[in-house]
Amino acid sequence: MTFTNSFSIETFDALVIGAGGAGMRSALQLTEHGHKIAMISKVFPTRSHTVAAQGGVNAALGNVTPDKWEWHMYDTIKGSDFLGDQDAIEFMCREASEIVRELEHFGVPFSRLDNGKVYQRAFGGQSQNYGEEQAHRTCAAADRTGHAILHSLYQQNLRLGTTFYDEFYAVDLLKNQDGEINGVLVMNIHDGEYKILQSPHILLATGGAGQVFRNNTNASINTGDGLGMVLRAGYPLQDMEFWQFHPTGVSGKGMLISEAVRGEGGKLRNALGEAFMEKYAPRVKDLASRDVVARAIAIEVNEGRGCGPDKDYVLLDISHIPNEIITERLPGIREISQTFLGIDPVKDPIHVYPTCHYMMGGIPTNISGQVVSPDKDGNQQPVKGLYAIGECACVSVHGANRLGGNSLLDIVVFGRKTALTIDEALKKTPAQHNQTLNLTPVVNRLNRWLNKAECGSNDTVVQIKKDLQLVMERGCGVFRDQPTMQKALEELEVIQERLENVCISDFSNVFNLERLSAYELENLVTIGYATVVSALARTESRGAHSRVDYTERNDDEWLKHTLYFQNNHTLTFKPVNLSPKHHEMIKPKPRVY
Ligand SMILES: Cc1cc2nc3c(=O)[nH]c(=O)nc-3n(C[C@H](O)[C@H](O)[C@H](O)COP(=O)(O)OP(=O)(O)OC[C@H]3O[C@@H](n4cnc5c(N)ncnc54)[C@H](O)[C@@H]3O)c2cc1C
Repeated sequence: MTFTNSFSIETFDALVIGAGGAGMRSALQLTEHGHKIAMISKVFPTRSHTVAAQGGVNAALGNVTPDKWEWHMYDTIKGSDFLGDQDAIEFMCREASEIVRELEHFGVPFSRLDNGKVYQRAFGGQSQNYGEEQAHRTCAAADRTGHAILHSLYQQNLRLGTTFYDEFYAVDLLKNQDGEINGVLVMNIHDGEYKILQSPHILLATGGAGQVFRNNTNASINTGDGLGMVLRAGYPLQDMEFWQFHPTGVSGKGMLISEAVRGEGGKLRNALGEAFMEKYAPRVKDLASRDVVARAIAIEVNEGRGCGPDKDYVLLDISHIPNEIITERLPGIREISQTFLGIDPVKDPIHVYPTCHYMMGGIPTNISGQVVSPDKDGNQQPVKGLYAIGECACVSVHGANRLGGNSLLDIVVFGRKTALTIDEALKKTPAQHNQTLNLTPVVNRLNRWLNKAECGSNDTVVQIKKDLQLVMERGCGVFRDQPTMQKALEELEVIQERLENVCISDFSNVFNLERLSAYELENLVTIGYATVVSALARTESRGAHSRVDYTERNDDEWLKHTLYFQNNHTLTFKPVNLSPKHHEMIKPKPRVY
C-alpha cells in the first residue's frame, strides 16, 4: 500500500479544527450567520479539554467587590510581566462582561449569590483600583465552570445545526498552487480512512500541548497538533519559552487542584506548618500570581522544607473552611483528593507540587484572530485563510504568565471575534472551491510512516513520548539555566533520531491508535524544540520563564516576543504592543504582590 494523491473531497465556507470552548464559540457564530461550516474534533466534542476547567472565567461584573474592566486590564498586564500585548488585553477585558452575560443566556448554570447575581470568587493576581485590595472577579459554576460552558455551547451548536466531524484527526494543512492555505487532510479515527476538507478559511482551535511535560494537568489529547501543523506549513510559533506551572498539582500525579481552593481561603504550608506565602508575597500571600506561588513552593522543597518521606511536596490546608462551603463550591476538588490521594481535605491537607498547566505561547495572531507571520522585510502580515484561537493561539493576552480565569475568557472572546472576521471575509468574497491543492508534502509524510512499518526496531512511540516528557521536565521546568537547557537540546536530537527510526507495528491496520500517537508525537517533539530553543535565547527571567543564571527581567533587551521557525530552528523577534493610550498608566515596573 502507498498513499497517492487521490482522496475524497468535501467543501465548506469555513472549517473549525477543535471543538473546545474556543472552537465551539466560533462555530456557533458562523453557523448562526448561515455559513456552511464543519467542526472537526479528534475526540467527542464534550470531551475536549475545556471540560476540565474548574475555577471560572474572569469579568469585571462587580457582583462581590467593586470592579472595572480597566482594573482587570491592569492586573492582566502586570500578571503577564508586561509581555502581553496591551491592545489585545484591553479588547479582552472590555468584552468580558458582555461575553459572560452572553454565556449565561446560552444556558451556563453559574453559581449564584443570595441576591441572584452570578457568584464571583477571588483568584490570584486580581485587584481593585490598580493593585490595591483583592478583587473577586472570577465567575464560577461551582468548580466545574469549563464543563458548564462547553456543554452549553455544544447544545447551542446542536440547536443551530453545526456540522460535526467527531473523532476525525486533522493531520496537516493543505496549500493551493499559490501557496495559500486552502484545506486540511483529516483521518477518520474509526476506519483509518483519509479525506480532504477544503475551504478558504481554516480556523485552528486545537488547544494546548501540556503533554510535552511529564507532570501536567492536561488530558492526553493535548499534544499541540495545531502548532505542529503551522510549523510544518512554514509559519512561526510565538513565545514558546513561557509555560505555566500551576502551583497546586496533586503531588506526583499532576492533576489540578484549582486556584479556587486558595480563592476560598486555602493556605499553603510547609513541613514546619508555616504558611510560607507570607514570606514571598507579604500583601496577597496565597493569592499571588501563579508563577510567584509555583517558585515559592519549589524553593521550599529545594531548601528542605517539603513534606512526606521524600520531602517533595507542600500542603494545601482547607480544614478551616466551613464544610458547607467546600460541599457547595469545591465538590470536584474534594472528589479528586479522595480518589487520587485517598484523603478527605475537610480533615487532611492536600499534597501539592507545581505541575505543567498552560501554554502561554502558541500560533501568533492579531486581534482579529488572523495568523500572522513576518514577510521578507520583517513586517508582520496576516496569513491568508488561516486563523487561530484559544490555547493554541498567542494573541498575546497572557504574555509571560497567565492569570487564572483569563483563559476561559480568552477562548470565548477571541472565538467570537474571529468568527466575525471570517464572516466579514465571506460576505465580501463567498467561498470558491476551484483550487488545486498541493498534496505532495502530506502524502510524503504519510508514506514515510508506511514505508518503515516493518523496520524491526524495538523502540516504541509510547517510550519515546515518555522520554521526551522527562527531557522537558528536567531541562525546562520551573527553574532553568543554560547548561540544563543545552543538555535538553542535545537529548532532543536523540529523541528526534529515534522518532525517525521507530516503526508502527501495522500502519495500515484501520483502527490504529498507534498511528495517531505517532502523528501526535511528531507534533510534541517539534514543540519541545520550539520551547528549548526559545528559552535558551531569552537571557532574562520574566513571568514563568525563570532562569537561575539570569535572575532579573531585562526590559532593555527583552521586552519583545520570540518567533520560532522549524526550519533550522530559526528565531526572530517582534515588539510587544504597548498601546499608547495606556502606556503611561501601565508601563513596565518591578512586579510585587
Ligand atoms: C485542569 C484544568 C483546569 C483549568 N481551569 C481553568 C479555569 O478555571 N479558568 C480558566 O480560565 N482556564 C482554565 N484552564 C485553562 C483552560 O481550560 C484551557 O486553556 C481552555 O479550555 C482551552 O480551550 P480550547 O478551546 O483552546 O482547547 P480545548 O478545550 O483543549 O479543545 C481542543 C480541541 O481541539 C481538538 N483537536 C486537537 N488536535 C486535533 C486534531 N489534530 N484533529 C482534530 N481535532 C483536534 C480536540 O479534540 C478538542 O476538541 C484549565 C486548564 C486545565 C488543564
